[in-house]
Amino acid sequence: IICNKEDVIKAIETNNVKFIRLQFTDIQGVVKDVEIPVTQIEKALTTGISFDGSSIEGFVRIDESDMVLKPDIRTFAILPWNNDKGLVARMICDIYMPNGKEFEADPRYVLKKVMKEAEEMGYELNVGPELEFFLFEKINGKATVVPHDYGRYFEFAPTDLAEDIRREIVLTLMDLNFDIEASHHEVAFGQHEIDFKYGDALTTADNVMTFKYVTRTIAKMHGLHATFMPKPIAIENGSGMHVNLSLSKDGENAFYDENGDMQISETARQFIAGVLKHIKAISCIANPLVNSYKRLIPGYEAPVYITWSGANRSSLIRIPSPRGKSTRTELRSPDPSCNPYLTFAAILAAGLEGVRNKMDPGKIMDYNIFDLTKQERAERGIETLPSTISESADYLENDELLKSTLGEHVHDNILRLARAEWDAYRTQVHDWEIQRYLNTI
Ligand code: GLN
Ligand code: MG
Ligand code: MG
Ligand code: MG
Repeated sequence: IICNKEDVIKAIETNNVKFIRLQFTDIQGVVKDVEIPVTQIEKALTTGISFDGSSIEGFVRIDESDMVLKPDIRTFAILPWNNDKGLVARMICDIYMPNGKEFEADPRYVLKKVMKEAEEMGYELNVGPELEFFLFEKINGKATVVPHDYGRYFEFAPTDLAEDIRREIVLTLMDLNFDIEASHHEVAFGQHEIDFKYGDALTTADNVMTFKYVTRTIAKMHGLHATFMPKPIAIENGSGMHVNLSLSKDGENAFYDENGDMQISETARQFIAGVLKHIKAISCIANPLVNSYKRLIPGYEAPVYITWSGANRSSLIRIPSPRGKSTRTELRSPDPSCNPYLTFAAILAAGLEGVRNKMDPGKIMDYNIFDLTKQERAERGIETLPSTISESADYLENDELLKSTLGEHVHDNILRLARAEWDAYRTQVHDWEIQRYLNTI
């Protein structure tokens, strides 16, 4: 394990690493990366490497643009591909202002700030995401929506042609220190899921970013296109990123209570209550695209209604059956197009507010909510997730907790991006409209 500067330099020397990729994530959740030859490593590890922050979406204005990248040593890892011209390693970086202060709109910083709040209350958040993705064919080098295989849930070769590719993704992730728990074909044609072990929120958010580019890279090496787009095919399941959550306190799982109702603790209930309260605003972060909302519809195993339950999969938050150390809640709305740092920060802040204010999540809905009529839902007070990015932006705009969690800079920029996304969509005339109206109206 790499713990200090000397470890990094030693790892570089013993492995004959030639280049280092310094990585960070912008507000939209896109990985940015600058490569330095190892001759620059000393400088990177001491003063950091400067870059132009004004060119990064949602960062800074042109007049204050000299930002500094400082690598987080613990994220040092050797990339297992493209090794013919010398080994390449990566380090994930924190972003600093020219005056040496932490940059408040760095998604890692935003997450670390909430983690510190949790720590002050005696808690640590454990996060285990389940990323789903599609593998599509490429034709003449261009990505299509033709599924690479016609396998279904848990299907097995020869239907699951992607078995070997999935295994190669898994092996590559293992080279990058991932603890992989399972991988399987998902419900839709061409759709897969790979699950890795939960960890602290920051490590896990770093892992989500790594997971995505590893998957894309390995797919590309096989002439395929991997996508984390939430809903690429209208009549098939979309891709979610379920987030399994638990708090630890003094090394114990604080969500487990042997004697509690359903064997979960009051803390778990309060955390859930906080998340339920803020979920409409969280959606603007956890479901940031126009396309995200096409996944959140009835009929495709994605959540629509704001409820919690036991093991029942029709609700937004459920309690998977394992107990003891594995007690956790699963939030099912996030999708893999989100920025994981900001998504985990928002969820954690909401959950902690629930714990701080001893909030009550209300009754569980342990039946299929999709079977209820609109009136039955109204009688039970069941609310619905926002149905567009525009709607969730309105909730985020007015959410004071999330505004202070994200900081004004990130809050403003997420809203700006969400509204620009919506405008880009609503100012187009889509094929669907032409097909539907041109000849009949
Ligand atoms: N793909 C579904 C979603 O959109 C989840 C399916 C599953 O994992 N059971 O969330
Ligand atoms: Mg799963
Ligand atoms: Mg799944
Ligand atoms: Mg799940």
